[in-house]
Parts: sequence; structure tokens; C-alpha cells
Amino acid sequence: MNRFARCAVALLTCWLTINQSPLVAGETKPPPNIVFIFADDLTCQAISTYGEKRKLLQTPHMDRVAGEGTRFDRCLVTNSICGPSRATILTGKYSHLNGFYNNTNSKFDSSQPTFPKLLQAAGYSTAIIGKWHLISDPTGFDHWHILPGQGLYYNPPMIKNGKPVKHTGYVTDIVTDLSIEWLKNRDKSKPFLLMSQHKAPHREWAPPVRHLGWDKDRQYPEPETLFDDYAGRSKAVSDHDMGLDRTFTDLDAKLVAPPNMNDEQLKGWNAYYEPRNAAYREKKLTGKELTRWRYNRYMHDYLGCVKALDDSVGRMLEYLEESGLAENTVVICSSDQGFFLGEHGWFDKRWIFEESLRSPLLVRWPGVTKPGSVNGNLVSLLDFAETFLDIAGLPVPADMQGRSIVPLCRGNTPADWRKSLYYHYYEFPVPHRVRPHYGLITDRFKLVHYYKPDVDDWELLDREKDPLEVKDFYKDPAYADIVKQLHAELDQQKIAVKETAEPPRAAYGNQRFANEPKPAAPGKKAAGQ
Ligand code: CA
Repeated sequence: MNRFARCAVALLTCWLTINQSPLVAGETKPPPNIVFIFADDLTCQAISTYGEKRKLLQTPHMDRVAGEGTRFDRCLVTNSICGPSRATILTGKYSHLNGFYNNTNSKFDSSQPTFPKLLQAAGYSTAIIGKWHLISDPTGFDHWHILPGQGLYYNPPMIKNGKPVKHTGYVTDIVTDLSIEWLKNRDKSKPFLLMSQHKAPHREWAPPVRHLGWDKDRQYPEPETLFDDYAGRSKAVSDHDMGLDRTFTDLDAKLVAPPNMNDEQLKGWNAYYEPRNAAYREKKLTGKELTRWRYNRYMHDYLGCVKALDDSVGRMLEYLEESGLAENTVVICSSDQGFFLGEHGWFDKRWIFEESLRSPLLVRWPGVTKPGSVNGNLVSLLDFAETFLDIAGLPVPADMQGRSIVPLCRGNTPADWRKSLYYHYYEFPVPHRVRPHYGLITDRFKLVHYYKPDVDDWELLDREKDPLEVKDFYKDPAYADIVKQLHAELDQQKIAVKETAEPPRAAYGNQRFANEPKPAAPGKKAAGQ
């Protein structure tokens, strides 16, 4: 047993003493179970309880979690991209401390402390099922059954406790089937942590065949910024590669079918897409009309994936009810970041802008969360590890950088709750050519620095004056004082979160920037050296 595990066991012993052996059935209420339903690239605009004005989709089951619990309206990420968000959730630490900066060349150091390890050492049964995406094998779990890499939507190969296994069907349904199966067969003498982690609705947004045509060929209302011209903005904002007008592949548009479907699935798929694709090809669309067609196709596909996800949330809630687990189980629905649904002309994430910065967060904890409550405090995925430990009654390690949101779930916001949050995105130039940037976020403002490799631009966003985030106020004299205050706060935050040094080159990935010299081959000097 290593020092970390010994420490956790000692903490458990202390905790059991204080709680008069709550793990012994019948004596006192056992510690709560945790079901964490975690999506990939699920954004608030696609969940009806968040009230998006386009009314894109009804999500009755996620809405039910909110209606029986708390909806957090400003849960922010610290680096808006898949792997790094997951590493932050596990460790309660920023990318620069947990070492997972990007999806290109980062690998999770699984020897570091994580909240599942602490829960496991404290007597919880722990399982992760679905998308993992951290390259190294999961640690701290009694059971793991994961998708390799990004995973496939149809008939996904998976890895069960280190061994490859095959599955037939649609990935969201399979992850839920396996999650419920684990709940049925778990060690019932222990409380549990189940991380049920979905691939959906990640690109390429392939819906299940049963939901094709769910929207009856609706023409979707457009976001006001679908044709954003980025006027007056940094080159970092305009010179991207993630627009519906420029980066949309045939697979994104479903002009080709997703990989790995069987004949039956492909038959159902083609029955929906082929006539619509033929009509599209006939029209030979260009310019704004082409962007509009892509936007509508994108909405059908992305939202069809979310609809299946909502089905899965419903099935999980139903199982918790019928098994008698619901009353002592905290259900948390969230995502690794938000996503653009056409705002600024974009899909994808990465930016400090609100749509990709904000994750959905719904918490149902019977007897604790007030049904139908809404919390607007600045919370973060950085707080999840601390929150899960707090739910289990365990102490939070001092070097975790977030803070438990359990008091907020109880309806009490501590007087010293955070008023600002530090953000840093690194991955560049592929995919999508979003330049590295960091910044400070408050309720109203964002101070942003695009700093690499060919830009050095500061921007100030004012969500109160400009909720669409299409204007930069940094050089506006009326904002001089606030700019000064935010700079001072940002400097303090960088020190507080311990990001005071230049990030290592590897933080940005392994792709060269334009004009960057080739790295030297082993044993040779690079040109010019
Ligand atoms: Ca993601």
C-alpha cells in the first residue's frame, strides 16, 4: 500500500468513527451514492431547462433532474476541450498542474491523486463506463469499461478492465445498458460512485437511426451571430478553422455515413439521408445559403444525439427509482464543456466565449437540493472532485484548486465564494486553429489575452452591454478603470493557481506553428544552431 492509500485508509477510519460506522446497514444512514452522467460537448443551448430562445429541443429527463434538484447556470470550464476537462475533474487541478494540456500529445499521469482513488480507499465501489479519453488506463476504479480514444457511435469496440470487447448497437444506449448492468451486479454492501460517461454528442454528431427525422425537417431559427464578421476583433478570433462556412466535412454534413455501421443500421440511415442529400446536391448551394443548409443539417444531427442522451438519463432515473436507490443517490448531469450551435458561425468549443466556456450542471440530491432551484454562482469543473469528496463526507486534499459546491446545493452561498475564475486554453494549431489564450472571467467581464504564436492581443468582453460577445471594449476609455482592476486581479489569479511560468512547448501539442523551425532529430542539431 503506498503512502497515498495509507493516508486515505486512515481518513476513512477517522470518518467511520465520527459517523458511527455508517457503512453497516441499519445503524445510520449510509453515505450517499453518486451517479455522474457525463456527456461530451453537450451545451446548455440544447437542454430545454436552460431556456435557449431558439427552443431547439425538449429534454424532459434532464429537465426532471433540474426540476427535482438544482440547475447551475454558470458552471465554467478552465480549458475548453475534452481530455483536459476530464483530467481537471479527476484531480481538482488546472491543466498546468495535472499535466494534461491538450488532446494532441498529453497523456494522463495516472499515478497522481484523484477523487475516485480517495472514494475507493474510503470504501466506495467505483466504476467508470464509456468515454475516458485520457490515454493511460483508468486507475482508482473497481470496474472500468471504456471506449478507446474518441470511440465510435455505432457498434463501438470497448475495453473492459484491460480486455477488448465488442458491442452491437448505438453507443449512448450501450453506455447506459452497461451502467445499469453494473449497478445491478455491484457489491451491495458498499456505497458507490458510477461515472457513466457518454461519447455523444461529440463530432461527428451521428444520431441513432430511431431518431433520424425527429425534427420533421424543421428550419431552425438562426443564432444572431451565424454570420459574425468579427469586425474590430483580434486576428485570433477571425482567423479560425472551425466555421460552418469553411470547415464542414462530408462526414459532418452526413453526405457520407459514419463508420462501422452494420447493414441493418445503414439501411435505416440511408433511408433518411439519401433523398435529402440528393435534393441538396441538386441545389448546388453556395455562400450564405450553403452555410444555412449546413446549420440546419448540423442541428438535426447534434440535437438527435442529445435526444438519445436524454433517453438515457430517463432510463437511469427510472432504474434508480425501481431499484430503491433514488433516495440516497446524488445524480449529477454535466459535460466536459459547452459547444457552439452556430453562434459566431461556429461548431466546436475551445474559446473563452460563453457557449463553449459554460457546461451544463444539474444536481439532484434528495433531501438536500431544493426542487426547482437555480444557482447563478460562478462554479467550475475544477470544483467537482472536491464536491464528490464532500458528498461522501471525506476531507479535500489541500492542493486541490477548486471548492466543494455542496453548500450551494444546500442553498447557502458562502460569503467568500469566488468572484472570478482563471482560464487557459493551449492546443494549437490543429484542429481548428484557435490560438492559445488565457483570461479572467467575472460575472460580467472577461479579460482575454491571445498571446501566441503570431498575435499579442488583449480583449475585454462585457456580457452586460454585449451578451453576444461580438465587441471588444479593451481600448475604450470608458473601461480604463475596469481594465486596470481586471489586470490586477488576473495577475493575482495566476499566482493563486500557480501558473507563473511560461507553459512548456508540449502544452500546445506536437504540431509545428507556421515558421517554427523543425525540431532537431535525435543526435542532430537543428538548422541554424
Ligand atoms: Ca468534449
